[in-house]
Amino acid sequence: MATLVFLEHHGGEIQKGALGVLASAVSLGGADGVIAGSGVGALATQAKGAGKVWVADDPALEAPLPQPRVDVLAKVVQDGGYDTVLFAASVLAADVAAGLAARLDAGLNWDLVDLQQRDGTLVGTRPALGDSVYVEVGWKSEPRLGIVRAGTFEPAESGGEPEVVSAGVELEDFSTRATMLEQAHEEQTGPSIEDADIVVAGGRGLGGPENFALVEDLAKALGGAVAATRAVVDAGWYPYSTQVGQTGRSVSPKLYVACGISGAIQHKVGMQSSNVIVAINKDANAPIFEFSDLGVVGDVHQVVPRLTELVRARKGGS
Ligand SMILES: Cc1cc2nc3c(=O)[nH]c(=O)nc-3n(C[C@H](O)[C@H](O)[C@H](O)COP(=O)(O)OP(=O)(O)OC[C@H]3O[C@@H](n4cnc5c(N)ncnc54)[C@H](O)[C@@H]3O)c2cc1C
Repeated sequence: MATLVFLEHHGGEIQKGALGVLASAVSLGGADGVIAGSGVGALATQAKGAGKVWVADDPALEAPLPQPRVDVLAKVVQDGGYDTVLFAASVLAADVAAGLAARLDAGLNWDLVDLQQRDGTLVGTRPALGDSVYVEVGWKSEPRLGIVRAGTFEPAESGGEPEVVSAGVELEDFSTRATMLEQAHEEQTGPSIEDADIVVAGGRGLGGPENFALVEDLAKALGGAVAATRAVVDAGWYPYSTQVGQTGRSVSPKLYVACGISGAIQHKVGMQSSNVIVAINKDANAPIFEFSDLGVVGDVHQVVPRLTELVRARKGGS
C-alpha cells in the first residue's frame, strides 16, 4: 500500500485528528502526508513518523477552501503513485475527500473507526444501523479514499521527522472561482472537547440549563472541557458544538465524567473509547453504569459540587 494522509491544519497546527490518522497509517506499514496552505512549510516537521510530507505552499491556498486542495491532492496522488488517501473527519476534509473522489473516480468510505491491512489491501471498519453493529468495508478500485471518524486514533508521541518535498501547485480555473469572504471563530476558552484530556459531560439529569454551572465548575477545577448529550442540546440548554455521540462529536479523553446521563447507545458511541469513564446518576439501573469504570449512584446536585470542592482542595494542596 502507498498511503497519503491529508494533514489539515489551522492556526499553525496540524489537527490532532489528522496526526492520529497518520499514526495509524504509519503503523500499517508507512505513510506520507500532504499539507496545503500559505506559509505552511514549517508545519511539515509536526508530522512525526511520516516518510515524506508534500508541501503545497501558495497564497492561493490561504483560505481553507476545498476545491484548490482537490487540485493539490489529485496531483500529489498522481506524482507520488499513491493507492490510498486517508482523511480525519472534519467539514473541510469531507469536502476535499468528496471532490477528490469525483475527480479521480475513486471509491470513498467514511466514518471509519478502524483500519487494518489484510492481504496487502486496506480493510476499514465502520458502524452501521445506528452504531449498533460494526461492519468491515473495502474498496473495489484504487485509489481508495477513506475518512476516519473524529477522535478514533491518537497521534504518535514519537517518530522521526519526515522528508519535506515541494508539491507543485497547479490550480484549475474552476477551482479558484470561490473566495472566502469571512471566517468566524467560535469563542472558546480552554481545550475543545476533542482535544481535552478530561471531559465533563452533562445530561438531562441536570434538570435545567442553569445547572450546567455545576458541570462547568467541575470541568474548570479539573482543567477539562464541557460536553453535553443530544437531549440537552435539542432542548437548547447547551450548544451543538459540545454534543457527544452519533450525531455529534466523538471523544476519547483520559477521563470522561458523565453527570445525569442515561448512557443511550447514540451517546455511548461518541465516548466509549475514553480511558476512564465515571458516571453520576441517581438511577442505579441506568445503562451508563454498564460501561463505566466508576459509578456513583446519587443526585448530581449533591455529588457534583462536592466533587468540585474536593478537586479544588486537592489541587490547592490541602
Ligand atoms: C438517530 C439518533 C441520533 C442520536 N444522536 C445522539 C448523540 O449524538 N448524542 C446523544 O447524547 N444522544 C443522541 N441521541 C439521543 C439518545 O438516544 C438519548 O435520547 C440521549 O442521549 C439522552 O440524553 P440524556 O442522557 O441527557 O437524557 P436521559 O436519557 O433523559 O437521561 C437522563 C439521566 O439522568 C438521570 N437523572 C435524572 N435526575 C438526576 C439527578 N438529579 N441526579 C443524577 N441523575 C439524574 C436519570 O436517571 C437518567 O438516567 C440520538 C438519538 C437518535 C434516535
